[in-house]
Amino acid sequence: MPAMSTRSPAKNRSAQTRRRTPSRRRRGRRNHRAWIPYALGGVAVVFVAGLVLGSHLGQISPSEPVRATVRDAAAPMTQTRLQGEGTPSADPRAAPDMRDAGNSGSEHLITAMTAGAPRALAPKPPQPAVREPSEVVPAALPAPAAAQAEPQDSRQPAWQRYAVPSDPPAGRPMIAVVIDDLGINRKQTREMTELPGPLTLAFMTYADDLAAQTAAARQAGHELMIHFPMEPSGASADPGPNALLRSLDPAEVQRRLDWGLGRFEGYIGINNHMGSAFTEDPAGMEIVLRELKRRGLVFLDSRTTAKTTAPGIARSLGVPIVQRDVFLDNVQSEAAIAAQLAEVERKARTRGAAIAIGHPYAATVAALRDWLPGLEERGFSLVPLSAIVRRDEERPALVSTGH
Ligand SMILES: [Zn+2]
Repeated sequence: MPAMSTRSPAKNRSAQTRRRTPSRRRRGRRNHRAWIPYALGGVAVVFVAGLVLGSHLGQISPSEPVRATVRDAAAPMTQTRLQGEGTPSADPRAAPDMRDAGNSGSEHLITAMTAGAPRALAPKPPQPAVREPSEVVPAALPAPAAAQAEPQDSRQPAWQRYAVPSDPPAGRPMIAVVIDDLGINRKQTREMTELPGPLTLAFMTYADDLAAQTAAARQAGHELMIHFPMEPSGASADPGPNALLRSLDPAEVQRRLDWGLGRFEGYIGINNHMGSAFTEDPAGMEIVLRELKRRGLVFLDSRTTAKTTAPGIARSLGVPIVQRDVFLDNVQSEAAIAAQLAEVERKARTRGAAIAIGHPYAATVAALRDWLPGLEERGFSLVPLSAIVRRDEERPALVSTGH
């Protein structure tokens, strides 16, 4: 029975088929025609798929330059920002700056402000792929014209890079007025900063808020120095925290140097605060002067002792050195200071240049306020200290016999 039951539907279908031959043929033609929409649909699907694939393949090359443009636009911004933050840069010219640990922050800050744009115009190393859209927009702005006109030369020693520009007329006696002990008393520091310059302002390593105080001084047109505390010979005098002492081992002298030279940026060199004992010590001064040599800085010897070893060591190492000619205010009266200023003029006339050191006392501020305005009329040039360093470098014969 199972056999019958399986055959019987076939027989029935066969019987129906025979009976409905004409309609089967019609239906067969209809069924045949029913494939046409499916075939057309299939062709359409293949066609659309081809279009999609083709357009996708076609977009690869046009979209690449677009991405490249965005990358180029973002690169200057990113590069400048990285240098400003002191992040290691792929630019090999940045390498010497990075080594100048003491002045490094300033180089990078100033480099970012003044030289970022010209550097960005040079061929750029590959940049990190991930970028915020906000980084792209400012980079499209044109760089300041001044920055492009005066690219910084990182191969210059720091003292030249941070020198206040000056071009005194040849043959005119030069006077540099250095005011040190700055930064501790804010009011007196501000009064000195407000005097007409260029003065050379030396800030104590251990003063507070040095970045702001020195930036204000530099913006007012004064040259910057670090005033470095060193051991005095008088037992009662305290040179202050992190002073250089003869009893320190060389590693500690170096550590204190690194600390002090990293306190702010944009200075041309250092001069000694006190130091009548330490500057007599050749071993200690050699460590100091080697570090100044490495960093491209100047040493101004305050000459708190006649037996200072700094000039001889500096010359043997090739460190630019200048020395104080006159202390202005050992006696803090306007009359005494005026007399010292007259002595500065006399020395400048005979030697071609003279260096005065004063302090932020009220009497010194008052005396300078009277003396500075007539200086040019009396035939002198008020110069930043770097101008006298440069003169000595250009005329080395004067160094051995001069101040
Ligand atoms: Zn001092």
